Amino acid sequence: MKPPAILGTREFMTADRQPHQRSFAAGERLFDENELGDVAYIVESGSVKVTRRIAGEDSLIATLGAGEVIGEMALLDDAPRSATATAETETQVFIIERDLLRQHLSMADPMINLLMRVLLDRLRGGTDEGGSGRGASARSAAVRRDYRDAELRAIDLFKFEHELKRGLGAGQFELTLQPIVHLDDGRIAGFEALMAWHHPTRGRLSPATFIDVAERSGLVRQLDDLALRQALQALTWIKRDLGQHADELRVAVNLSGVHVDDATTVERVRRVIEEEDFDARHLTLEITESWLVRDPDGAQQTLAGLKDLGLRLALDDFGTGYSSLGYLHRFPMDYLKVDRSFTEKMTTSEGSANIVRAVIGLAHTFGLQAIAEGIDDPAQIEILSDMACEFGQGYHFSRPLVAKDAHAFVAAQLG
Ligand code: C2E
Ligand code: CA
Ligand code: CA
Repeated sequence: MKPPAILGTREFMTADRQPHQRSFAAGERLFDENELGDVAYIVESGSVKVTRRIAGEDSLIATLGAGEVIGEMALLDDAPRSATATAETETQVFIIERDLLRQHLSMADPMINLLMRVLLDRLRGGTDEGGSGRGASARSAAVRRDYRDAELRAIDLFKFEHELKRGLGAGQFELTLQPIVHLDDGRIAGFEALMAWHHPTRGRLSPATFIDVAERSGLVRQLDDLALRQALQALTWIKRDLGQHADELRVAVNLSGVHVDDATTVERVRRVIEEEDFDARHLTLEITESWLVRDPDGAQQTLAGLKDLGLRLALDDFGTGYSSLGYLHRFPMDYLKVDRSFTEKMTTSEGSANIVRAVIGLAHTFGLQAIAEGIDDPAQIEILSDMACEFGQGYHFSRPLVAKDAHAFVAAQLG
């Protein structure tokens, strides 16, 4: 039997058309003064002349080159363009859409939102009074440099987010599965689903490099839904193909903290489980502590709804955040995951070993099972087994595997 079709990504990647880039010929307008705009541009190559009509004459305000942004103000307030932008030479630009920016602003701290508005008013004021572009003359060189640094960081982030959004649409994300084993006898218990990104120019990226950006932009919802669907499909395929020996295999899928106060979370998870015709008893959702501390009441409600679907819950990265023993009993957890940072140092640091022992003891006190992450040294297994830790996961057993290799891993064990 072949792996489910959704797992193949190459054919999608070749269909990638880069809709967020555009070329302008020399003399072509990017936009006109007084028109309404809903996109900004980052100049990738070439140059753009910015002019304003003053006393019936076009006067040059600025000439922008690679890496500079033009037209951003119209994204933030609905005022018409305050200048005309014309390509001086053949110019390649990267397009920033209003939607993405709006999504950012809606999630931004209200103080930041307010500051944005104040700054925007000043910038518009600067343009009107001085006729000197972005009010640059009023700023000292140091302030301009700071502004430029912030601008460059924002540009990098925007580009990365655009690539992420595009990559999600273009099927560049691939499910990988890392085995989780019973520590007493090494039998496989299941997998954790971890999404890898086949970036068109940067190569294969691990989630550690993009989850932050996905969370900040809200794109993580789409990513998590995709991970869940692909994980259920892959496990269904492995179970069907390997028969009853694989019956008990579970799959754990990460659910970002952004879902905690999203009223649609339970329904979305329910729908995927139903559409994939998956037995929810074999699904675990991994959530982090930050979920719980940010909005304990909301979390309690969402988690109760998820548990009602028949799945299990794991508390991930335990001990790395604002862990508070006070809340553990409030949430319907089944597993507690011992963070890699503790497992790693366990063989060399007595302090870390004590923390691991305490965390495992705590899990058992609350009726949970413990899963130790980041096992890459056999010496760790012995210590963890002595501490009665039920499950383990780490490079010693296996790195995250694509679906067909995960299938082979199980098949080899079942012998
Ligand atoms: P996590 O949930 O704590 O996942 C474990 C991470 O540790 C994974 O990194 C895994 O590859 C890595 N790892 C496992 N065993 C070892 C080991 O023995 N040594 C070392 N050095 N590392 C090991 P990865 O794949 O980069 O994932 C990073 C984080 O990204 C994950 O941490 C998880 O929080 C997040 N993540 C991954 N996939 C998803 C997803 O689909 N949705 C969401 N919301 N988050 C995800
Ligand atoms: Ca996890
Ligand atoms: Ca973890």
